[in-house]
Amino acid sequence: MTRVCVSCERAENGSPVRSVGGGTRLVTKTHDLLKELRVEPGSAPDLDRRDPDVRIGAPSKQEGLARLQELVERLGALQYRLAAEATRSVLLVLQGMDASGKDGTIRHVLTGVNPQGCRVVSFDVPTTTELAHDYLWRVHAQCPARGELAVFNRSHYEDVVAARVRGLVADGVWRRRYEHIRGFERLLVDEGTTVIKIFLHLSREEQGKRLQERLDNPEKRWKFRVGDLDDRKRWDDYANAYEDAIRETSTEWAPWYVVPADHNWVRNLAVAEILVDAFERLDPQLPEPDPGLEGLEVI
Ligand code: AMP
Ligand code: MG
Repeated sequence: MTRVCVSCERAENGSPVRSVGGGTRLVTKTHDLLKELRVEPGSAPDLDRRDPDVRIGAPSKQEGLARLQELVERLGALQYRLAAEATRSVLLVLQGMDASGKDGTIRHVLTGVNPQGCRVVSFDVPTTTELAHDYLWRVHAQCPARGELAVFNRSHYEDVVAARVRGLVADGVWRRRYEHIRGFERLLVDEGTTVIKIFLHLSREEQGKRLQERLDNPEKRWKFRVGDLDDRKRWDDYANAYEDAIRETSTEWAPWYVVPADHNWVRNLAVAEILVDAFERLDPQLPEPDPGLEGLEVI
């Protein structure tokens, strides 16, 4: 039986479903969840109205963790096929305020993935060499090759968020970047990359707790930068910059998802659902075996 979403008539894997003349239909919870998290192209994310503390995707933490385990395994199997197929690629962009859980998401969601076909790239303050080029230069160079999954821990969105809030470039400079970014991501998609962008939506209160924990815990203190406090003071400016950037760049070809990030398990589960959904839609295929292999026996 095909599982379809009753509200938009799409199969669970995202492909449109033809009328099946009275067949039983199920609402797919996953699909509803993704719809809720997705920022429709042309609309604002309304970050103020989205609750970072919400527990979505599973009735309890225990069930959420069980579902996450399933998704982690599924992702591993799908990534194996993506690498074998070696014709298309996936780019996952993770953005969020300090301590929103970008590192933790990568650790928990990608545990089932073969490191051979996966690349995690962290973008820090641009170096002198990077600044000597256009801002997309260093980003394009790290985009996934065919068969690869690349995860960006921060990205070119720093060039319209951090650069804007810290006043590193003039107003007219960051403003015109939205158009470059839409075009850049269109290029990636046209050439075979699936682009998924996720904003980890953390509350200011939860950030406060997490930054304090970083200061207090010697195992975590290395992550704390004095500059993090300056950024925290400019919370509203960052929130505005994200609001604008997400509205301007959530497109049909590269949509944004806003994931509630105050609870780690909810965040991990939501990201895993989004990622597995994207891989399922791609439906990567193993290459045809060599015809000469038929009937061969290994002796
Ligand atoms: P972290 O991810 O905590 O290691 O910190 C990386 C830092 O680099 C953050 O403060 C980012 O805002 C900053 N960063 C990354 N890319 C850029 C960029 N293009 N322009 C300005 N700051 C950036
Ligand atoms: Mg940091």
